[in-house]
Amino acid sequence: RAKATGGHRYEVFNEPLRRQTWDRLGLRAALRRAVGAGALTVAYQPIVRVGDGRLAAVEALARWHDPERGEVPAAEFIAAAEETGLIHELGMQVLEQACTQAAAWREAFGPATTPRVAVNVSTRQLLPADFASRVLAVLDRLGLPADVLELEMTESCAMEPGARAALEQLSAAGTTLAVDDFGTGYSSFAALRERTPQSFKLDRSFVARLPDDRPTDAIVSAVLALARHLGATVTAEGVETDEQLQRLRELGCPQVQGFLLGRPVPAARIERDWLGHPR
Ligand code: C2E
Ligand code: MG
Ligand code: MG
Ligand code: MG
Repeated sequence: RAKATGGHRYEVFNEPLRRQTWDRLGLRAALRRAVGAGALTVAYQPIVRVGDGRLAAVEALARWHDPERGEVPAAEFIAAAEETGLIHELGMQVLEQACTQAAAWREAFGPATTPRVAVNVSTRQLLPADFASRVLAVLDRLGLPADVLELEMTESCAMEPGARAALEQLSAAGTTLAVDDFGTGYSSFAALRERTPQSFKLDRSFVARLPDDRPTDAIVSAVLALARHLGATVTAEGVETDEQLQRLRELGCPQVQGFLLGRPVPAARIERDWLGHPR
C-alpha cells in the first residue's frame, strides 16, 4: 500500500519544500540587490521614560519594501542577511541612516531635545577587527558624541570571545551597550560580571504575561533590582496595554517601548509626535 501511494506522497510532501528552497534563494538575491541599491529604509520606535512620559531614545529598525514581496518582516530578512554575510553592509547602512538622522535632529531641535538612537547589531557584525573603528568613524564624520549611540545586541554577543575587542573599544569611546531580548538567551551571571551592559531590554515575552502571572512578576522584579544594583537601566519591550504599563510603573521600570507608546514609524512622524517645533 505504501508503495502504491509512495510516488504521490513524495510529490505532496516535497512540493512545499522545493518551494521554500526556491523562495529562500529568491529572497536572498532580492535582498542583495536591495542592499546594493541602498533601498532599505529605517523606522524609528519611541523608547519612553516612565517617570515623565518623555522620549528617552528611539530604536532604529530596518525596513525593506520589495516590489514583488511587499513589506518583508525584519526577522526574515535579517536572518537571511546573517546567513549570507550581507549583514555587514546592511548593518552599516542602517547605522549610517540612523546617525545621519540623529545629526539632523540635533541641528534642528538641539542636543537636549534629540533622543539617543539605538541600533541593533548582530553578533556576526562584531567579529571583523575594524567594526568598532568603522562605527566611531561614522560618529566622528557626523560630529556626534559617542553617547548618542546605543548598540543593542543579544545575550550571545557577550559570550562570544571574538566580539570582546569591539565591545571594549566602543564602550571606552562612550557608546552604550544594551542587551536585547534579555531573559530569553544564554546570559549567565558570570557573563554579567565580566561585562556589565548599561541597559537591559526586557524581552516582550515577559511583558506579555504581566500583570497576572506570578512567576513573571517575580522575574521582572528581580531583573529590575539586578539592573538597579548594576547601575544599568531597563527598557520593557512590547508594552501593549495600560495594565502592563501600570504594573511596570509599580515595579519601578524606568523605560518602556511598545505599540501602546508608539509603533515603529518614519523619522518625520517622530518629529511630529515627539520633538515639537524646530528651534
Ligand atoms: P528587536 O530588536 O527586539 O526589535 C523589537 C521588535 O519588536 C521590532 O520588530 C518591533 O516592531 C517589535 N515590537 C515593538 N513593540 C511591539 C509590541 O508592542 N508588540 C509586538 N508584538 N511587537 C513589538 P521588527 O522591526 O520586525 O524587528 C524584528 C527584529 O529584527 C528586531 O528585534 C531585531 O532583532 C532585528 N532587526 C531589525 N532591524 C535590524 C537591524 O538594522 N540590524 C539587525 N542586526 N537586526 C535588526
Ligand atoms: Mg532591538
Ligand atoms: Mg528585542
Ligand atoms: Mg531581537
